[in-house]
Amino acid sequence: MNSFADVLLPLPIKGSFTYSIPAALQYQAAVGKRVVVPFGKSRLYTGIVRAVHDNAPEKYSAKDLALVLDDHSIVNSFQMEFWEWMAAYYMCNVGEVMQAALPSAFLISSETRIVLNDDLKNDPSSFSDREYLVFEALSLKNVLSYKDVADILGIKTIHPLLKDMFDKGIIGFYEELRESYKAKTETFIALAAAYCDAKQLSAAFASLTKAAKQEDVLMQLVSLAGKNLESFTISKKKFLKIEGVAVSGLQALIGKNIIVEEQREIGRLNAYDEATHDAKGLNDDQRRAHSEIQEQFQKHEVVLLHGVTGSGKTEIYIHLIEEQIKLGKQVLYLLPEIALTTQIIRRLQHVLGDQVGIYHSRYSMNERVEVWNKLQKKGGYQVVLGARSALFLPFDNLGLIIVDEEHESSFKQQEPAPRYHARDMAVVLGNKHKAKVLLGSATPSVDSYHNAIHDKYGLVKLEKRHGGIMMPEIFCADVQEEKRKKKMKSIFSSLLLSNMETALENREQIILFQNRRGFAPMLECNLCGHTPKCNKCDVSLTYHKALNLLKCHYCGYAEKKAISCAACGSVEVALVGFGTQKIEEEIALVFPKAKVGRMDWDTTRTKNAYQQIIGDFEDKSIDILVGTQMVSKGLDFDNVALVGVLNADQMLNFPDFRAHERAYQMMSQVSGRAGRKNKRGKVVIQTYSPDHNIIRYVIDSNYEALYHSEILLRRNFKYPPFYRLVGITIKHQSLDLVNAAAAYFAGILKESLDEAEVLGPEFPSIARIRGEYIKNILVKIPRNATTNKTKNTILFKIELFQITEPFKKCRLIIDVDPV
Ligand code: ADP
Ligand code: ZN
Ligand code: ZN
Repeated sequence: MNSFADVLLPLPIKGSFTYSIPAALQYQAAVGKRVVVPFGKSRLYTGIVRAVHDNAPEKYSAKDLALVLDDHSIVNSFQMEFWEWMAAYYMCNVGEVMQAALPSAFLISSETRIVLNDDLKNDPSSFSDREYLVFEALSLKNVLSYKDVADILGIKTIHPLLKDMFDKGIIGFYEELRESYKAKTETFIALAAAYCDAKQLSAAFASLTKAAKQEDVLMQLVSLAGKNLESFTISKKKFLKIEGVAVSGLQALIGKNIIVEEQREIGRLNAYDEATHDAKGLNDDQRRAHSEIQEQFQKHEVVLLHGVTGSGKTEIYIHLIEEQIKLGKQVLYLLPEIALTTQIIRRLQHVLGDQVGIYHSRYSMNERVEVWNKLQKKGGYQVVLGARSALFLPFDNLGLIIVDEEHESSFKQQEPAPRYHARDMAVVLGNKHKAKVLLGSATPSVDSYHNAIHDKYGLVKLEKRHGGIMMPEIFCADVQEEKRKKKMKSIFSSLLLSNMETALENREQIILFQNRRGFAPMLECNLCGHTPKCNKCDVSLTYHKALNLLKCHYCGYAEKKAISCAACGSVEVALVGFGTQKIEEEIALVFPKAKVGRMDWDTTRTKNAYQQIIGDFEDKSIDILVGTQMVSKGLDFDNVALVGVLNADQMLNFPDFRAHERAYQMMSQVSGRAGRKNKRGKVVIQTYSPDHNIIRYVIDSNYEALYHSEILLRRNFKYPPFYRLVGITIKHQSLDLVNAAAAYFAGILKESLDEAEVLGPEFPSIARIRGEYIKNILVKIPRNATTNKTKNTILFKIELFQITEPFKKCRLIIDVDPV
């Protein structure tokens, strides 16, 4: 018998907390189950049992577990080890990782309830007005929440009053637990057991000769059931839709207990119930790559598949997945964007049917719990396709992890902690499960490619597109030259325009790509140059035409568009910059007949919006698709003749050590959407710098050249993969405090880190967001140094910082491997 349990709590505390197991819970408490425990003053939390043992904690006396919630473990030890590894690596707490990992519906929270004191000795006539109101409400309702009290009194600050009433002995508090996952149920009907034999059934019919409606209803049910009278059930809703089934008749039969009702749990997840098909046969090139991958897996845990767009990487994945399923192993297939899951899921289900589940952040918390449960059930999912959070699912037998579009920076979580990179964590998770990891990309990250050519990873290449489709022909439009010659029409170069005309005439489709960052439309005064800015963030407000509002994209602040300039009063304010919305309007002016669709952050906020837009484009009800980053990735369309990159310079000039790598990836990826059977696709890149080396590499599809030029810079300027980076951000509303705190912290780091280099503090390009000033410090740790020692020193200094006045008032955020 174990008498203590270590419990992981969803709180920013280090490690786990030890509780004693009361005798009554001895048989229930087990590793991986959820328990409810008291923590702090009268608060209850749900935690997960990490371990059970017999060692009493040394520094405090253990409190009792209050409750064990689960019959069986919902988290396995692979997962908990993985959480701990992540917490150590990303310099955060296990509790924070656990919170990211578990669907929030698993974490029951407690809510404070207010009740009357059991042995109330006070005389109500001595109560103040407010006390009396609360007392009266409690006499009527027994239990109130904080919100109830606030509503009754019509005031917001009720704490002092309640504390006072508690001290006087009028009221008491208790914590009520709320479980937030609710199974979805539906009413099903069936023939009552007593009528399932022929004799009883004919007696029932005989008794209904005067009730035609009931007779009809019973007849319908019996004929639907056929030979399976005993086991047949049907959803009541569905049954009532059948012609000739009257509600009144059905209710009467239920009243007579001839038909019985039953509430049944139904899933929220759309089941796939269509027929499955064999996977496509691989072409020669794919077969070679496929067997090379298997060979490489003999020697390496991780293999990088570098295959040009349209080479059929996905088809190879499908074959590899089928092989794992045959071995009884699970597969995790990670994608960087939810947008991509809609196309790929269809391709997977076509072959694998309902063995495939999806998991991503657009799922509701209830749906997430269902995927989680279904993965733990025998005969549930074998394969999960998902965005980065799918890493946290309860796999217990992983054979393969596929990370598609591995170069994508959206694999990195920005906020909140853990700020993890899903591709890197896939490698760690694979290691824990002894599973193989396949990274796939047409434009690998410099980091992964470096690992591959230095034999840390295996490397397999696919250089041809499937079906003899040629790589697109890429042209450059020199915007400066065209402007000088006055050949630009609005935002379109003559080269792009003429190609658009041709494509539309041929009834072929077009994709126009506009980089998300920076090119938001904003107002500018023609007289004084003033642009309206957010008063809490150092950014210009973006104009939203549909709402006629100026909005801040960082904090959501919005104001009505003013008619005149706020600085000088001039009415000559004009829109500058062009967002995807503006492009849509410009196209409408030039090509009034073309049907235009837009895919960006604004148009895809609802769960099914992507699917809708992608579907419209696939069935050709859209001629021109305008979009941001989202259109550049992994989507596979078969009628796109032309891709236009509207502004390449903005990507090239971004102040970030990965800017060139990103620009190359984005332009190559979006170019990859062009091309059709029997016809070579075209790409037009509009730029002010047609001779930029990165643009030349894109035109020549020369990834190797890009890699070699980048890796040289990385080595010379001390960036990954040669150095590890740890970013430290300090924030506060007071500029002086941020300056002082950042200088202090950088100072103590520089003093104590001898192997690493400390850069900064510096203001980022947007130095204030939501009213908080921001300063960054960057620590560069050489690869050959002991990273753990450096990280521990940093953590130690952070602890010091957090108890030092006045700096401790600042928020300090730590980001390992920032992207
Ligand atoms: P990638 O993921 O490398 O960009 P895809 O797997 O999406 O490439 O393949 C591009 C297109 O070619 C898809 O429409 C796919 O169905 C088709 N395709 C690829 N390989 C085959 C194959 N062996 N047989 C038939 N169609 C294929
Ligand atoms: Zn703002
Ligand atoms: Zn002005």
